[in-house]
Formats: sequence, C-alpha cells, structure tokens
Amino acid sequence: MQNVNDIIELMRSPTASDRALVTKAFDFSKLHHEGQKRFSGEPYFIHPFETAKNLARLGMDVTTISAGLLHDVVEDGHVSTEEIEKEFGKEILFLIEGVTKLGKLKYRGLERHTESLQKLFVAMSQDLRVLIIKLTDRMHNMQTLEFVPEEKRKRIAMETLEIYAPLAYRLGMSKLKGDLEDLAFPYVYPKEFEKVKKVIEEKSLETRESLEKIETQLKEEFIKEKIVGAKVDTRVKHLYSLYLKLERKDWDIEKIYDILAIRIVVPTLTDCYRVLGIVHGLWRPLPGRIKDYTAVPKPNGYKSIHTTIFSGDGAIIEVQIRTDDMHRDAEFGIASHLSYKEAVATGRISQYSKNFLWIAKLLPNFARPTSLSDEKNSNESPETMPAWIKQLAEIHAETFDPKEFLNNLKTDFFEHRVFTFTPQGDVIDLPLNSSPIDFAYSIHSDIGDHIAGVKVNGKMVSLDTPLKNGDIVEVVTKKSSRPSAKWLEMAKTTVAKRHIRNALENQNKN
Ligand code: MN
Repeated sequence: MQNVNDIIELMRSPTASDRALVTKAFDFSKLHHEGQKRFSGEPYFIHPFETAKNLARLGMDVTTISAGLLHDVVEDGHVSTEEIEKEFGKEILFLIEGVTKLGKLKYRGLERHTESLQKLFVAMSQDLRVLIIKLTDRMHNMQTLEFVPEEKRKRIAMETLEIYAPLAYRLGMSKLKGDLEDLAFPYVYPKEFEKVKKVIEEKSLETRESLEKIETQLKEEFIKEKIVGAKVDTRVKHLYSLYLKLERKDWDIEKIYDILAIRIVVPTLTDCYRVLGIVHGLWRPLPGRIKDYTAVPKPNGYKSIHTTIFSGDGAIIEVQIRTDDMHRDAEFGIASHLSYKEAVATGRISQYSKNFLWIAKLLPNFARPTSLSDEKNSNESPETMPAWIKQLAEIHAETFDPKEFLNNLKTDFFEHRVFTFTPQGDVIDLPLNSSPIDFAYSIHSDIGDHIAGVKVNGKMVSLDTPLKNGDIVEVVTKKSSRPSAKWLEMAKTTVAKRHIRNALENQNKN
C-alpha cells in the first residue's frame, strides 16, 4: 500500500508545511485516480506515487514533488485546471500543464528530427522542473514497460533512448540517463542486449574477486593514512553504454577497462589527490589513463579523477575518485542545483559554467536574479539569490542588455527555426518563414510535387502562408497536381526550390 511517508522520508529536511502540501497532493491524486488501472493491472496511483518518490530522491523541492503526484490528474483523472489552481496554486498548475503538453509530443523514429525534438522539449518545458518531472515520469513508465502492449513498447523504448536519455545526459543526470538507457536497451536491440549481457557476466566473474581484494586493501590503507570519511564502492558499467563502447572497439572486451570500477568518494579535493597517491603507490597505473576531470570537467559538468590500474593478479580496473559534492552532481546533475531552499541555506556555488548557461535561462522566474527579472520592482533582494544563480548570471555581465536577454530567452531555441508537426506528430524542423510548400518537400519530393491543398491546424490555407511554431500541417495531394513557377517565390528551402525547378523543367520538355 502506498504511504505518503515513503515520499516524505526521501525528502531533504521537509518543514511541517512541506509535509502538509505533499500529503494534500497525495490524497488528491489518490482520490482522482481511484478505480483506474495501469497496464500491469495495478492501481494507477502507483505511477504518480513512484514519480514523486523519484523526484524526492533527486532532491527536488516540495512544489515539484507535489506536481509529480498530480501530473496525470488533469489528463487521466479528469480534474479541471481551475480546480488544481484553486487547491494548489498557479505554480503547481503551471508544472502540471507543462508535463501534459510535453506528453503530447510523440517521437516516431525519424532520425533527422531527433535533435529538433530534443530542443523543442527543452523550449516547451519553459521551466526545467517540468522537464525533470517528465524524466521521472518516463523512468517509472520504463520500469513497467513490459506490461504495455507490444506494438507500443518499441516506440516508447526508442523514444526513451533517443530523446529522454540524451536530455538527462545534457542535464548532467547520469544516473537517470544510464537507468533509462538500460531499461530501453532490451526492447530496442534485443539481440545485442543478450550478447552484451553474456560478455559482462563472463567478465564480472573474472574480475569480481580481484575487485574485492582491492577494496579491502584500500580500506586498510585509508585507516593507516588517516583518510577520514571515505566511501569505497564498486560499480558495474551500464549495459547500454558498454554496448556502444563494444561497437567502437570491435567487440574486443579486453580493450575496455571500465566495465567494473572502484569508486572512492571522499570529503575534499585534497583527499582526492591523497587517495590518488595511495592508489598509485599500491598498484601500477596504466600509462595514459590518468584523467583529471576535476581540473577540466567534461562538457556536461562531470567531475572526477579517473585512473586505471593493474590489480597484480591479471585484472585491469578503473578507479574513480571524487568528493561528495562531485558525486552528487555526477548522479543527479542539474537536479541537485534546483533545490532553491537548499542552495540558499548552504550557499553552495555551482561550478557549472558556460555549458549550462542555456539552462539558467530556463530557470523558474522566482529563481532568476533580480537584475534579470521582468518586473522592475521585484521585492526579492539579490542577497536571497543562491550564489550559483548569481554566478550564472555574471557570465553575461560585461555585455549585459536586459532587453536582449529577454529576447534570447524567448528565441534561444527557436532562433531562425520553426518546429511544425505532421498530423501523426512527427516534427518537421524548418527555417523561419517557411511555407507549406517547404513543409511538403521536406517530407518527400513526391508529396511536394503533388500538393493540391494544405490545412494548417485543421483549416485550409493558401500555399504562401508562413508557418509558425507548433503548427500541425496536413498536405492534401492529388496525382494531377503540378508545381507552378509561382511556387519558387513561396519556397524558402533550397530542397524545395531544387525540386520545383526540376519539375518545371520536366513539364516544359513534355
Ligand atoms: Mn505519467
């Protein structure tokens, strides 16, 4: 039986009013999903409940956790948006509506549109918390994917692999990314999955023993060297990322050194380097395999020191050394920076730099520095701003122009592009001011060559109508229809123009 305390226990230092809000959302969601079932036959409420637990694990704020509990009550529980607003306020309603909107975007495996769809997702979510709810929602849906009808399963798994996992990666949420990929892997590439599983099982048996020996030896050495508060752990590489690596290395397992790794988490950066010294003192490192991502983080913000050692009994093992903070960032990424309350309390400064600037633009209004806020007389003083938000804003400081900032905010992802849809929900990414003719040709030249009429959002329009973001475009074709010279003026893309010219030349020949 689901109990609200299971969520509260996962929350970071909840106040009495936090508990009250989560409990209210819990009861409300449970009531409105009453009698509904998942494909698994379980009560529907398990789904929002697990989503909320995932959000609490990520350290999200009480608003986001409550929105997670309520994320399906409008769509599936038939509750009006007015009622949500009355009971839970504008902010929670905004988050729920954002999640519902994202749920309508469907991915149908057109590879060339993957990136547009990712961008669209980010842009449409407007507030990063929407995206994070959507990711945790997807996490639970993937955990229960086996119960979903077969014909839907592969599409959902593919979408997870190509849209959701890369988004989680870009947000630095590598644990979520790895979990999503591994859940999708067997449905998308069943044969490859079996092959990788076999490879890893054989390798694990071999290495497991030397791993344990190393672990024991390390712990003893830490006591001797007075390294306090070190946590030593072993981790197995995620199957899907192992699969990708095997593909790159011609399936030669001997060329992959990080299948099993030892992870050492210590309090400070100084400890990291001391531990590195201890490790290299005990085991010989593989030359060229020492990587210090604490000094130069990976593009997604990942930090750690990696080294690879000869265990002495034939095994080669990767060792990862990092601080508690780095560990939390590595697992949860941006999610660990979204907890406003905590950021204020600890004044913890994010080291995320330019790579995350675009994320700063998607932060909720209340978390935006006053100088960048739309309202001139905001009563939020800059002192109450978490340092990490200020830091993100400072990158802009030299060239800062508030008007420009707001403009960028709106157009960052849409600049020079419009994202339109086929009636089936495929995304067609076009240059600004494209016409339905461009749309038709970007689907297929045959469709372009035979346009008889076009409906945009259900209404017939003329062929020179500029398309807007989110337009659903339906092209009506007729075998007898042919391009005319006028089309050349209406078309914007080179692809369309080329096809029209070809068609006109052919017509002239006949
Ligand atoms: Mn859901």
